[in-house]
Amino acid sequence: MKQYRNFIDGRFVESEKRFAGINPANGVRFADIHEATRGMVDEAVEAGHRAVQAWGKTSVADRAAMLCSIADEIDRRADDFLDAEVSDTGKPVSLASKLDIPRGAANFRIFADILKTAPLETYRTDLPGGAQAINYAVRKPLGVIGIISPWNLPLLLLSWKIAPALACGNAVVAKPSEETPGTATLLAEVMHKVGLPDGVFNLVHGFGPNSAGEFITRHPRINAITFTGESKTGTAIMHAAAEGVKPVSFELGGKNAAIVFADCDFEKTVDGMARAVFLNSGQVCLCSERIFVERPIYDRFVGALAERARQIKLGDPTDEGTGMGPVISAGHRDKVLTYYALARQEGAQFIVGGGTPTFGNQLDNGFWVEPTLIAGLPDSARCVREEIFGPIGHVTPFDSEAEVVQRANATPYGLAATIWTSNVNRAHRVAQSMNVGVAWVNAWFLRDLRTPFGGSGLSGVGREGGMHSLNFYSELTNVCIHV
Ligand code: NAD
Repeated sequence: MKQYRNFIDGRFVESEKRFAGINPANGVRFADIHEATRGMVDEAVEAGHRAVQAWGKTSVADRAAMLCSIADEIDRRADDFLDAEVSDTGKPVSLASKLDIPRGAANFRIFADILKTAPLETYRTDLPGGAQAINYAVRKPLGVIGIISPWNLPLLLLSWKIAPALACGNAVVAKPSEETPGTATLLAEVMHKVGLPDGVFNLVHGFGPNSAGEFITRHPRINAITFTGESKTGTAIMHAAAEGVKPVSFELGGKNAAIVFADCDFEKTVDGMARAVFLNSGQVCLCSERIFVERPIYDRFVGALAERARQIKLGDPTDEGTGMGPVISAGHRDKVLTYYALARQEGAQFIVGGGTPTFGNQLDNGFWVEPTLIAGLPDSARCVREEIFGPIGHVTPFDSEAEVVQRANATPYGLAATIWTSNVNRAHRVAQSMNVGVAWVNAWFLRDLRTPFGGSGLSGVGREGGMHSLNFYSELTNVCIHV
């Protein structure tokens, strides 16, 4: 049985309290996870404060070099990372080897680059009588950052926050999802191996309420909290953060719209939308669960997308040819199936899917659902309003640009949109009118890590990415000199 331990002040720390790591593809228990106690979280926070004294004063060049060493070591151990990610999540090796693991390394490299080239703000202020003031802002670490991440893209989302936090000279106390502790634990080994000073990176395992998650967010000595996960968890964490008026950065849920105009490049759009609905079993915060298709191509487009869904090969995630794995847990499968049942009650038409697959082998003990497309529901139906976070999309026709913009924006979420058209003017117009943090045109999940990323409304608070991350993870002091 694998043992996933906490990593505090440069040492791996066991706990008497343990919980099970289950492979979602086959239901097999394969790991023991050591749940951090409140005392361990306290130790991690104090270790962070001790470490940040020196780490926060290291040169930009030294910190950038350290981030690159971390990236190199992730690359060197890519097979171990891949194995851990696939066992924890059940995602196909074909996906994790192209997305999760390389992006985990890339997050460290890009923030090394951004740090080295980040400008400082300077302003000259003209004063009466010809005098002047010169202003410049200096960037200082915030201190110890609490980082809490979800299970859907475990290494990618955790490193997305750890890398800029370390780049800015902070120490971190990170908690991966209880469902996916594997790659985070390997990351601790990497930090150890490359010689990151003890206490700069601390990792604690556990759950949310009354466990490591809440111990971090309620900790009086945590200086800022960055969180990715469900919107309702964001609310709970915001309450906790209010106690010490801590800065928060939240990347939360979505109910993202896709808009397919009749003048789109048809095949490219079908390809793109098959990814946008079904990638990672629909468990990407950016996935499209509401698909609006212009009426002249509605039937043909829905037929083609359904055909793609039928072609997706479900199976053993370790087989190179597998296209889709299970969902993360028995609990999450039940949640997704509850929505499939609700869709039936609400009167949806099932175009494809709607059930669970059978394999006739060990995989039948895993947590599987079929890729599914539904249609015919009003925009007010719960299945069209609530985030399901599974391989399901609702397709609906539209007749005009004004209508579809209004319907796509009629949601309390505001994370992402994807728009498919060959009309350049319309592309800009519609993309800019989406109330979201990220609007893609003729693309989906195409990321340049320097760009702002985040959501509005229930989808989040603030933006990360590029300079936005450096600004969140730094304290800026403006120096004003009267000359
Ligand atoms: P979740 O909110 O249940 O859990 C996320 C993390 O928060 C876990 O580590 C969990 O242990 C911890 N947690 C739970 N309750 C807590 C509490 N009260 N205090 C402190 N920590 C707590 O989310 P999930 O089910 O792991 O992930 C799926 C959700 O994440 C979806 O809603 C998805 O849209 C969202 N997500 C958003 C983005 C984004 O960038 N906007 C990216 C990925 C996932």
